Amino acid sequence: MADRFDVVVIGGGITGLMTAWNLAEAGAYVALLEAGDLGTQASGANAGSLHLQIQYPEFAAYGEEWARAYGPCLGFLKDSLALWQELSDRVGEDLDVKLGGGVVVAQTDAQLETIARKAAIEGAHGVETKMLSRDELQALAPYLSDKAIGGGYCPMEGKANPLRATPAVAVAAQSAGVTIHCNTKVAGIVKEPEGFEIVTSSESFRAKRIVNAAGAKAGTIAAMLGVNIEIDGFPLQVTVTEPVAPLIPHLVYSAAGKLSLKQAANGGCIIGGGWPAARRGDGTLATDPTSLTGNMSVAAGVVPKLGAMRAVRSWTAWVNGTPDWRPILGEVPSCGGFFLALFPWVGFSAAPMTAQLTAELVLGKRPSTPLKGISVLAD
Ligand SMILES: Cc1cc2nc3c(=O)[nH]c(=O)nc-3n(C[C@H](O)[C@H](O)[C@H](O)COP(=O)(O)OP(=O)(O)OC[C@H]3O[C@@H](n4cnc5c(N)ncnc54)[C@H](O)[C@@H]3O)c2cc1C
Repeated sequence: MADRFDVVVIGGGITGLMTAWNLAEAGAYVALLEAGDLGTQASGANAGSLHLQIQYPEFAAYGEEWARAYGPCLGFLKDSLALWQELSDRVGEDLDVKLGGGVVVAQTDAQLETIARKAAIEGAHGVETKMLSRDELQALAPYLSDKAIGGGYCPMEGKANPLRATPAVAVAAQSAGVTIHCNTKVAGIVKEPEGFEIVTSSESFRAKRIVNAAGAKAGTIAAMLGVNIEIDGFPLQVTVTEPVAPLIPHLVYSAAGKLSLKQAANGGCIIGGGWPAARRGDGTLATDPTSLTGNMSVAAGVVPKLGAMRAVRSWTAWVNGTPDWRPILGEVPSCGGFFLALFPWVGFSAAPMTAQLTAELVLGKRPSTPLKGISVLAD
């Protein structure tokens, strides 16, 4: 049995690592347990978008009532993007963070009207999305197809490099004193009078408090303490093109189909947007050819030059998703000392705020942002 820690964080993705780092910087004695290697699940495989605006496909599918319920999360994401802007300095490494703005492109009047309704809800929650005419859009983003009739522009959105961010945060966490155990899969948790015993594939740990930051597998961890949460893993894929000269300075979405598109610092265009990957019989994931062609077709319909570029690599990973998109953050009321740090679907964008808020709550501080209306645990 190892030492008794103040906090054991389960999950070595960006959320768990940042939370552990914040806790250790505040003086807590922290261990982080990771089933495999750090940042090898969603945090290392995501598309690197720093999202803020409500995603168009979900707005179109779920409607205004859903968007109003989700609205308070926009302020949380806005604060998180502000923390992203400071992160390179904080870790002492360039993480390719660029907030060049996000553009959602319409090709029909109905799509433009839907973007405007979405922008009105975003505006009510302090997130500016400026509606652009055809000419304004073409002036801002001349690389777009001339089929674009207008769109919405959210100036605060952007991108970061996930392949740099999570490893850099891991180094910072370790330097702050976090004890990191890789290849240490949590297999069971026992509630004790003064805390928890965490049983893993290698050894057992004791902690006064636990943070569950296990991403798509967080439901399995919560169930070990009899806590039922609505989070699951959904298989997604992303594709990158060969590097090309600077072309796309924005994060680009389409109202005509699922798309997130940006150009990385090395020139490759990263194309995703929530297209499902295929599941093999053994449970592992593979690129789905139908999703691949669908995704490329939407992308080339928005930025015609993409049609002449070669896609060089596609990859897959499980994203942590919840049905209503709302985060599950805070201490579980029925299980004192057990904290959930789960921001679904856009958890890379949200990670700095998720980590900051979680650390505050674990340390018994008043949260800098009230979680009412944001976390389902605070309803
Ligand atoms: C293909 C794809 C593209 C995406 N694109 C974007 C994007 O552009 N922008 C954005 O904001 N978000 C994006 N996301 C979502 C985002 O990546 C995730 O929401 C975020 O990375 C979640 O981080 P996390 O640290 O909470 O979880 P993860 O990165 O999944 O980390 C959880 C960790 O917990 C570990 N774990 C699980 N079970 C156990 C156990 N029993 N014991 C110990 N450890 C365990 C796992 O091994 C894993 O390392 C995307 C996701 C995917 C899959």
